[in-house]
Amino acid sequence: MIWNKEAECMPFKEREKLQLERLQSIVKKVYDNVPYYRKRFDEIGVKPEDIKSLKDIAKLPFTTKTDLREGYPFGMFAVPLNEIVEIHTSSGTTGKPVVAGYTKKDIEVWSEVMARALTMVGATKDDIIQNGYGYGLFTGGIGVHYGAQKIGATVIPISAGNTKRQLEVMVDFGSTILTCTPSYALHLAEVAEEAGITKKDIKLKAGCFGAEVWTEKMRDAIESKFNLTALNIYGLTELIGPGVAQECPEKSGLHIFEDHFYPEIVSTDTLEPLPEGEKGELVLTSLTRDGMPMIRFRTRDITSLRREICKCGRTLIKMDRVTGRSDDMLKIRGVLIFPSQIERALLEIKGIEPHYQIIVTRPHHLDELEIQVEASKDIFSDEIKHIEAMKKKIESHIEKSIGLRVKVTLVEPKTLPRSEGKAKRVIDKREL
Ligand code: ZN
Repeated sequence: MIWNKEAECMPFKEREKLQLERLQSIVKKVYDNVPYYRKRFDEIGVKPEDIKSLKDIAKLPFTTKTDLREGYPFGMFAVPLNEIVEIHTSSGTTGKPVVAGYTKKDIEVWSEVMARALTMVGATKDDIIQNGYGYGLFTGGIGVHYGAQKIGATVIPISAGNTKRQLEVMVDFGSTILTCTPSYALHLAEVAEEAGITKKDIKLKAGCFGAEVWTEKMRDAIESKFNLTALNIYGLTELIGPGVAQECPEKSGLHIFEDHFYPEIVSTDTLEPLPEGEKGELVLTSLTRDGMPMIRFRTRDITSLRREICKCGRTLIKMDRVTGRSDDMLKIRGVLIFPSQIERALLEIKGIEPHYQIIVTRPHHLDELEIQVEASKDIFSDEIKHIEAMKKKIESHIEKSIGLRVKVTLVEPKTLPRSEGKAKRVIDKREL
């Protein structure tokens, strides 16, 4: 099933023409209405008239998360505040979050791309969508909600968490489509198993899973436990939220809704655009965003693009599953963290050495963070209860600083591996 055949199956050439028209108009819009972009364009001497072909997009400056933070809260808006009908933020762990503003038209576009995504997963107006993404400032819950309503499906806005209730609803209401993070889907499946709920009790036929990096292995596990088709969704608050791209049942990449989001892949070293098929950082430009247009936003997500007519009939370009990030950020339970934040918090505590290692695991399908720290000799010659107290102190200090619970293990001085070059601070044992 295809929600918008005209847009999703448009011949390549025709779509390119549409993209160019939209690009030219959005570039003019930001130049005229967003002082930040006018300044950046003027600095490098580029004018909206310089965009004569899609390739000319490379003349434009990049936008980064830092730029967005500097514009906090409403500096990136291209319309007066009274035209903004909804505001979301990203989960910011360092400083201020990224703020995203939507006009009425943006909400319509969001509903449209989410309707396309959910239809691609198999949703129709006859389906019951159990929406396990968080509602609130996070874009996940409401994004899915808008798409489900546009289709006319029955949406259960259960939001994230509360596993027992999720399973009760799933069985009693006969949910047919599940939307949540893949790790939570797996967790739900396991708790269902423990509770004696069998596949016969569950009517799920498909799942729309995203908001974190996951693997084929994880897909297999979710599919076999729940007896459903698990598909990958991609999006980000800076562009719109969920609904930038969606995997079709062919399971060979995610279709980017490129009539609204123009994708490029750039080299992580030179930031020069790379040809199709090569791996690099995904850069996205919003072609139709009204309230907060984004020019060449650096997503930091590593992937590659492929253009082909998919077996599903769509001509929309495909991106591969995201395999990692171009910076050293860690995504733990959906929260972005820099190792340097942990380092900073650690070094504020007396009695520990600046040698540490961060170990990320996913023991029960939920990410866990362990930090091994070398304690000073004095601490180790002390009584066990003092060591315990120190451990607790570090754990609570780090939790306060980064907003995540971690497990701290104190080790004796000089026991962690040393490196002559860049220290290997992070050991990611999750099978990604
Ligand atoms: Zn397809």
